Amino acid sequence: MSNPSPDLAGDADTWEKICAKELEHMKQRLKLAHLPTPIEALPHLSAELMGPNIITKRDDQTGLAFGGNKTRKLEYLIYEAQAAGADTLVTAGAVQSNHCRQTVAAAARLGLNCTLVLFGDPPSPPDGNHFLYYLLGAELVFTERPRVQDKLEETFQNLRKAGKKPYLIPYGGSNPTGALGYVNAMLELAEQGCTPDWIVFPSSSGGTQAGMLLGARMSGFHGQILGISVDEPAELLQSRVAELASQAARTMDEPYTFTAGEVLVNDEYIGDGYAIMGAREIEAIRLFAEHEALLLDPVYTGRAGAGLIDLVRKGFFKPEDTVLFWHTGGGPALFASKYQNRLIDLA
Ligand SMILES: *Cc1c(COP(=O)(O)O)cnc(C)c1O
Repeated sequence: MSNPSPDLAGDADTWEKICAKELEHMKQRLKLAHLPTPIEALPHLSAELMGPNIITKRDDQTGLAFGGNKTRKLEYLIYEAQAAGADTLVTAGAVQSNHCRQTVAAAARLGLNCTLVLFGDPPSPPDGNHFLYYLLGAELVFTERPRVQDKLEETFQNLRKAGKKPYLIPYGGSNPTGALGYVNAMLELAEQGCTPDWIVFPSSSGGTQAGMLLGARMSGFHGQILGISVDEPAELLQSRVAELASQAARTMDEPYTFTAGEVLVNDEYIGDGYAIMGAREIEAIRLFAEHEALLLDPVYTGRAGAGLIDLVRKGFFKPEDTVLFWHTGGGPALFASKYQNRLIDLA
C-alpha cells in the first residue's frame, strides 16, 4: 500500500496503523475486479442541476461480466468458499439480480459450479441479467419470494446429497465477509486521494454501506455516507447496516462499533417498491445518459440518481460541496424489455 499524504488519508497515524498491520483480513481475497475503479468528474450534470460539484466512482466498471458492487464482495466471499474446499456456489436473488449475475460470472472464471435460486416471473424470452445467467452457465431454480429461504436451504441440501461441496453466499453477498469488499473500497478511495464531502449511492441489503462505514473509520474519512434506500424503511436498514459494520469490525479485530443512529439512510425515494421503475428513475436515467453518458440502471442507481437529483434541487448540499455518486453497477437490467420499452419514446 502506498502512503498518501496525511490530509488525503485523514489521520496519518490511522493510516500508518493500517499499513503496519497490512490487515491480514483485507489480504484474504481473490482478485476478480479491475481495481482501483476510476473516479470521474460529472461537470455537465453539475451544471445542468446548478448544484454542487458532482463526481462519480465507477464500480460499474469492476470488469467482471459487466461489473458492479457485488464483485468486490465476492473477492472475499469466494476466497472463503475456496478455503473451505467448496466446488459449487449457491445464492439467491430476484430474476434481474446483479448479485446473481456477478456470482455466476465469478464461478465461471474460477471453474466452480453455480446454482441460483430466483424469485419473480422469468421473462420469456430471457433478457437482461436473466439472459446472462444462461450464457454464464448457471443452474437455475425458481420459486416465489416468500419461499426463497426454504428453497435455498433445500437446494443446498440437495447439492450435498449429490456429493457436491456447496458454499452458501447470502442474499446480496451481505454478511461481515462480503462487507470487507467495501472496507477495501474505502481504503482504495483514500489511496486515490479522494475526499468528497458526501458519498451517495443505492443501499439495499446493507453490505456495501456497512463496509463503507467501517472503511471510513479505518481510513479517517471525514465526509458523510448517505445511502438512498432502494426498498427498505430507513430504520430497518440503519440497524442492519450498524450491526453488519460492527460484526465486520469484530472479524477484523478492529475496536470499532456502530449504532443505527450514525448510519445515514434516506428512504424517500422507494416509490412503488423494489424494481418498480417510476417517473423519477426514468428522468434520472435519461439525465445522466444525455449529459454524461453515464448509464444508470432501473432498480438501484436509477433510484439513487433520482434521490441525488431531488436532494440537489432542494438545496440539501452546499454549493461548494463535492458529492461523490458511487456507481454500483446494474446496467444489464436496462436491457430487460419491461424497462427498456419505457425508457425511450418511439414516436
Ligand atoms: C446489490 C446492489 C446494490 C445494493 O448493495 P447492498 O450491498 O445490497 O446494499 C446497489 N446497486 C446495485 C447495482 C446492486 O446490484
